[in-house]
Amino acid sequence: MSNSDTGVVELRGVVKRFNSFTAIRRLDLTIKTGEFFTMLGASGCGKTTTLRLIAGFELPSEGRILIDGDDVSEVPAHLRPVHTVFQSYALFPHLSILDNVGFPLTVRRVPRKERLERARAALDLVQMGGFFDRKPSQLSGGQQQRVALARALINEPKVLLLDEPLGALDLKLRKEMQHELKEMQRRLGITFVFVTHDQEEALTMSDRIALMRGGEIVQLDSPTGLYNTPSSLYAAEFIGETNMMPGEVVEVGQGRARVAAFGQELDVRTADAISAGTPVTLTIRPERVAAAGTAGPNRVEGRLREIDFIGTDIRLVYDMPGGTRVTMRRQNIGSAAPVPGEPGWLEFGDGDLRLFRH
Ligand code: ATP
Repeated sequence: MSNSDTGVVELRGVVKRFNSFTAIRRLDLTIKTGEFFTMLGASGCGKTTTLRLIAGFELPSEGRILIDGDDVSEVPAHLRPVHTVFQSYALFPHLSILDNVGFPLTVRRVPRKERLERARAALDLVQMGGFFDRKPSQLSGGQQQRVALARALINEPKVLLLDEPLGALDLKLRKEMQHELKEMQRRLGITFVFVTHDQEEALTMSDRIALMRGGEIVQLDSPTGLYNTPSSLYAAEFIGETNMMPGEVVEVGQGRARVAAFGQELDVRTADAISAGTPVTLTIRPERVAAAGTAGPNRVEGRLREIDFIGTDIRLVYDMPGGTRVTMRRQNIGSAAPVPGEPGWLEFGDGDLRLFRH
């Protein structure tokens, strides 16, 4: 049996080449038992290939893959204790929902009575209890995806692999399904390995996220870690909205740096060993930029360029000295917003700024 220390899925030095192209560079990864683990990244970064390697649809060019402590590197897909759910639901149109869900058990020659009982239980689990006799064409996209999940769960896999399973759904349904999926995963305690290019989806659902780029993991972190403390400029840009401001280190000491930016100096907290004279990029999230009434430390005066009203929030874009633009985001609590053209002092908290060398 595996436990959370050993991990349910382990990739050790996995490399995947397609002819001369290296899709996965060298992946060492441990996915823990019962976690909701997400691989996130731009198109072509290698997330689907990684999932297919775990599923057994691809074999590694180098390295080993372990599931529940067993080396499955050479084991064919249908004998691995995992199940894959794809974006396309792949339901049989001529079979009822109940028979669709029971199908994996038909393949394994489970007697009809047990098969139907287990199919009913799996459909209840995904809140599709009232739809046994319908055909897939008589269901909405979200309902079909739930049926596909029930079919995946019927074999009680140790690991469920999900490749953009919500990609075909409209936004509202997608949000609903995100919460349902997460809730179901917690209830069942099955390890989910999820692939998406949608960062909001990843942040909402995951216990941990592997942000991938060019066949490598650039950061492996919790959603809050990835959002609040990105370890690279790439991660800072990829996840959420971020302001980027050019600067140059003036002075360093004791976990802090003074950085020249906007024609003045800003104080930044940093654990980085960095020397004076280094050109850097400072980043700050729009919701961390504060409106300050007057001049003061870490405050810079800009001029309001435009306001975007986005319902719950307001985005204010400021032109800053030197030509950089800074976006500030604040909650729409009904108070009067400033008018474009007005000057305003923006405050950049020393702990909210992050510093990256080029
Ligand atoms: P997307 O979000 O677009 O699905 P992804 O991150 O899942 O992207 P992969 O499908 O893992 O990306 O592909 C990674 C890289 O490997 C891509 O450059 C892709 O073209 C390449 N690749 C994937 N499968 C094959 C294959 N069978 N033969 C050759 N190249 C492949």
